[in-house]
This record gives sequence, structure tokens and C-alpha cells, in this order.
Amino acid sequence: MSRRGELDALIVGGGAIGAALALALAREGFDVALIEARAPRTWSRDDDVDLRVVALAADARELFENLGVWSAIESARVGPYRRMRVWDASAPGEIAFDAAENGEAALGWIIENRLIQHALWQAASTNARVRLVCPGEVADVENESERAAVVLADGTRLAARVLIAADGAESPVRAKLGIACSERDYMQRAVVAHVATACSHEDTAWQRFLPSGPIAFLPLADGRSSIVWTLPEVEAAGVLALADAAFRAEVGAASDFRLGEITATTARAAFPLRMRLADRYVAGRVALAGDAAHVVHPLAGQGMNLGFRDVACLRRVLAEARDRGSDLGAAHVLRRYERERRSENALAARGLDAIERLFGATDPLTPTLRGAGLALVDHVTPLKQLFASIAAGRA
Ligand SMILES: Cc1cc2nc3c(=O)[nH]c(=O)nc-3n(C[C@H](O)[C@H](O)[C@H](O)COP(=O)(O)OP(=O)(O)OC[C@H]3O[C@@H](n4cnc5c(N)ncnc54)[C@H](O)[C@@H]3O)c2cc1C
Repeated sequence: MSRRGELDALIVGGGAIGAALALALAREGFDVALIEARAPRTWSRDDDVDLRVVALAADARELFENLGVWSAIESARVGPYRRMRVWDASAPGEIAFDAAENGEAALGWIIENRLIQHALWQAASTNARVRLVCPGEVADVENESERAAVVLADGTRLAARVLIAADGAESPVRAKLGIACSERDYMQRAVVAHVATACSHEDTAWQRFLPSGPIAFLPLADGRSSIVWTLPEVEAAGVLALADAAFRAEVGAASDFRLGEITATTARAAFPLRMRLADRYVAGRVALAGDAAHVVHPLAGQGMNLGFRDVACLRRVLAEARDRGSDLGAAHVLRRYERERRSENALAARGLDAIERLFGATDPLTPTLRGAGLALVDHVTPLKQLFASIAAGRA
């Protein structure tokens, strides 16, 4: 607790974004409560590789290093990807990225969601400035002139100068505050599974655009690849219902057998896809972060990375406010965060949306255009570097 025995910040939601924010603010000297409805599953080396993985960008890794969790994650199970190949089923042209071109060892790292959350929770639970309230379900939010408060399902009330809602895409806090969202339902599902392939993945992330949606192969540390296959809802249901042998054959065909035959697969899971952007990030003393503020198409593996940039921004803005003697929940403080992050997140979401529309288009001219576009990007070094920087979070 602070000198006055009060909490500085309440964070609702202990997913990757809320947990990282709690740790970041605690390391900055703030006293925080992290309120999470359900305890996350722990991670163990003996467990199967979690079906949910993310491609972590370089700036998110820097954040993890700064929070003191990167070495635990790296020594647990991490698949670096050093190259990326992107091509189109309906047009010639290919983009090839290589970390070595920028003098770097990796473009990013494939990491299990459960491992990220486990490492962050381990660190948060041993930090004296983080009060873990779990299980703790936020039932109500009160925006008062001096404080923001939450009332939990069991009647407990907690208050602080500022409240950050990192409570996910459906964000009950956002709904309680009446913040509207603009939204596009892609009417697609991302089918995920881990597959073994006849050929090595060569530490490369492979992505092929098909008219029905992209299929990505992300290299896992154990030599398998994690696939993320975007399909219209009905086709996704069909793929989920296939017997393993038929599924392997379909995945092989969808990837044009770039990694050879698919020799084994895990069970599959599927996630509905939508773009959702909160119209505002701030209401009174409450700010939104992570998926509560922005949900983007996963075709470039950006969602969680954008959330970690929200974390880095909030940490900086709140620390500067404290150093100036400002109230952490003052409108001008939170608006600064909103100004910085809302435009960048919206730009990323709309950019991914445009790519999804371009590659999903069925009129006869578009394949020619996108083939020319891929070839152009691949041959113009500054453009390629720009693409690589955006993917790695450096632009
Ligand atoms: C198929 C797929 C692939 C993806 N791949 C990538 C990728 O490669 N790279 C990438 O960067 N991103 C990727 N993403 C996006 C990424 O998974 C999300 O952006 C990220 O998980 C969001 O984290 P979050 O902490 O904001 O939300 P969540 O993980 O949803 O966490 C929200 C938490 O809030 C808690 N909560 C909710 N309501 C309450 C309440 N009332 N009281 C208390 N607690 C509450 C929930 O229990 C939950 O733990 C992908 C997404 C999909 C669907």
C-alpha cells in the first residue's frame, strides 16, 4: 500500500495484458490490485504444448526483459522464428523476411499463451506491491470524482485513483461504462492445431493466402508447427469435424505441401474472428487496455503485441504524472494515453482489415494487383524493412 495506505491502481483482468501491467506498475513503485475472476492454469514442461500460442515481437520481449520474466520464459520453451515467407495461392510473388537482413537473430518468438501468463503471475505473486485478488469477479464499477471503485461479486469494495480494464474482448467494465465499439464480424474462425511435417520448418513462419483465408505455420521449439487456419464459419466447422488423416491431407493441400506431408496432428480448437475497436479508451478515472480496447484479425499475430504496447505506454504516462505530482486518474493524464494508443491500434486494426479484404477478394483483377504488390514489396528494400519493422514492433 502507498504511504496513505491506499492502492494507486486497480487492474481488472489477469490475462497477459492485465498481469503485465500490474507487474510494470509495481516495478515503477505503484501499489496495485490485480483482480481476476478465474485463476489461470499453470504451465509445466511436462504438459502438452498449449494450443494457444502467440508470435511475440521484439518490443514485447524488451518489456518482458524489463519486467524480469524473459529469462524464465526463454529457458522454459520458446520457438524463435528467424525468417518469414508469405505467398498467395492465386497470384505469383512472395515476400521473404530474414532477421539476418537487419542484423538480428530472430524476427520474433513463438510462445504458449499459458507460459506467458504463468511467468507473469509467478512474478506478480511474489511482488509485494501487487495484491492479487483471485478469484475476484468485478460486478460493478463506480466512477467517483476522487476515486474509481469496483464492487466484487462477494460484495468486497476496492478503490484507487485509477482503474485499468484489461478484462478481454467482451470487457464487462467497458459495457458498464457504456463505451460503444465499432465492429466487423469476419464470419470466420481460426482453426488451430500443432502439426508435425515431413520437412523441417527451418525456424521460419510460413503464411499462404487462400481465397477462403490465410493459413500460417508458426515454428515451435519441438520441431512441430502451430497452424492458424482462417476459414469461413461453415468451412471451419467442416474442418473441425474431419478425421485426423483427412485433416492432415487438407492442411497439407492448403499449405501447398511447402513443408511436405503433415505426418501428425494434435486435437484442434477454433476461435471466432472479429475486429472490435472501442470508440473511447477513457471514461472518468477508468482506461481500457488490451483486447478490452482493441481486437484485431490474427493474420499478422499482432493482438497481444499491441496490448503490450498499451502496457508500456500506461507505465510511462502514469509514472510521469506521479513525478509531476499529478492525480493518476486525472482526465488529462488518461487522455494522453488514449491519444497515443488509440490511433496506433486503430491503424493496425484497419491495416489488417484491408489486407484481409484484399486477399479475400474474389474479383478477377485483385489477384493480379496483390501479386504485383507482393513482388514489389519483396524487391524494394526500404518497403520490406518497413514491413519487417512493423511486424517486430519497431515502427
Ligand atoms: C487464433 C488467434 C491467434 C492469435 N495469435 C496472436 C499472435 O500470434 N500474436 C499476438 O500478439 N496476438 C495474437 N492473438 C491475440 C491475443 O490472443 C489477444 O490479443 C490476447 O490474448 C488478449 O489478452 P488480454 O489480456 O487483453 O485479454 P484476455 O486474455 O481475454 O484476458 C482477460 C481476463 O479478464 C478476466 N475477466 C473478464 N471479466 C472479468 C471480471 N468481471 N472480473 C474479473 N476478471 C475478469 C478474464 O477471466 C481473463 O482472464 C491471437 C488471437 C487469436 C484468436
